[in-house]
Amino acid sequence: MRYSKLFGKSRKSIPTDAESANAKYLLKGGFVEQLSAGIYTWLPLGLRVLRKVENIVRQEMENLGAQELLMPALHPKENWEKTGRWKTMDVLFKVKSQTGKEYALGATHEEVITPLVARFVQSYKDLPVHLYQIQTKYRDELRAKSGVLRGREFGMKDLYSFHRNHEELQAFYPEAIRAYNEIMNRMGMEIRVTEASGGPFTEKYSHEFHILTPAGEDALVICGSCDFAQNKEISKFKKGGECPKCGKTLSEAKGIEVGNIFDLGTKFADTFELSFTDEEGKKQKVWMGCYGFGTTRMVGAVVEASHDERGIVWPKSIAPFDVQVVEVKSKKPEVRAAAEDLIRDLEQHHGVDVLYDDRDDASAGEKFADADLIGIPLRLVVSEKTLAKDSVEWKFRAQKEATLFPSKEVVGKVVEWVNA
Ligand code: ATP
Ligand code: MG
Repeated sequence: MRYSKLFGKSRKSIPTDAESANAKYLLKGGFVEQLSAGIYTWLPLGLRVLRKVENIVRQEMENLGAQELLMPALHPKENWEKTGRWKTMDVLFKVKSQTGKEYALGATHEEVITPLVARFVQSYKDLPVHLYQIQTKYRDELRAKSGVLRGREFGMKDLYSFHRNHEELQAFYPEAIRAYNEIMNRMGMEIRVTEASGGPFTEKYSHEFHILTPAGEDALVICGSCDFAQNKEISKFKKGGECPKCGKTLSEAKGIEVGNIFDLGTKFADTFELSFTDEEGKKQKVWMGCYGFGTTRMVGAVVEASHDERGIVWPKSIAPFDVQVVEVKSKKPEVRAAAEDLIRDLEQHHGVDVLYDDRDDASAGEKFADADLIGIPLRLVVSEKTLAKDSVEWKFRAQKEATLFPSKEVVGKVVEWVNA
């Protein structure tokens, strides 16, 4: 991809007062554009990151044995009245048809998936079943803020699991936690699994997945010695107190909630009469779990956790491109020829994703600043200077030092690094 042709380039100034790092860098870098408070367009550069996040999530859901489907975002009012949430869910967007019929915009999908599964599940042989989607959600958030962290329209992966009994659900639950940990590992992020409110109808905890960063909205009580963590909202413990698990001293930290999983019991199955016939021919209730993961919030959370004063530092697995090639403008045609040779070799012969800064109207300084802002993990520079030494300059975004590699070796080195 030639940067001169890319739709949505970096900007010196941004239209909104971006208070958070993710809003600032994603807007400045040309990853997203704001349509209205909490509503964003994903520009080509940002969409590449979002798709990579989605694909990692998708792969781990498939590894978990879940099947992907896609449910509507427009839901008839009746489904939401059945669970009572038409009235009680304050963030539910409601729309009215010209015919007078009312709808909700999907804020979550229990109201759709439970009756759906009831149509297909009859016997114990049909269970367990695990279904997920990666879809756009709508929530009438009072305050949309912090860039893509809290939107009114946002992306979520939602998985729902259906089981024959509580034991089966309880056995699956830790597998879901493992999958979430794997997702986070692959994105180079550390996570805290945190006990949190299970919702208004239960005494049980749900589990939230937090990326610890001062930019986080949630306050957590955590142990520095073991894995104990609770959301402060529900915690009986305090900073400075004794960890109930290991006895060491508790502290407080801020986190961004990127995932939240619940044991729903038979709550929704009861409402939508989702049951099955067991081995003895007896009718039984279906047990249900739900597992949410914010895909668009994740992109923002990574920026919050991985940036410096110059811009974003993408982990390799979700970077929009593998390599950024910066061509320092020169009157000598050999410079452009060398850059183009390098890119052809990387892209066409080795399938490496390259962003090639070929702009004629940008100085070397501007190109370097933009490369730092955009945050692609590896930067290669081709200039008169490097050419004179028959070499290419190599620099990782996350490191300070640059090194020179002989031109002949550089493609091999890049391919090795990409596949590492
Ligand atoms: P929060 O407490 O931050 O409002 P929530 O607990 O209401 O979120 P869930 O219903 O648990 O959210 O949704 C699952 C996941 O969807 C969250 O963990 C988060 O990653 C994401 N998410 C929820 N609300 C938003 C939002 N307004 N904008 C972006 N992502 C969101
Ligand atoms: Mg939550």
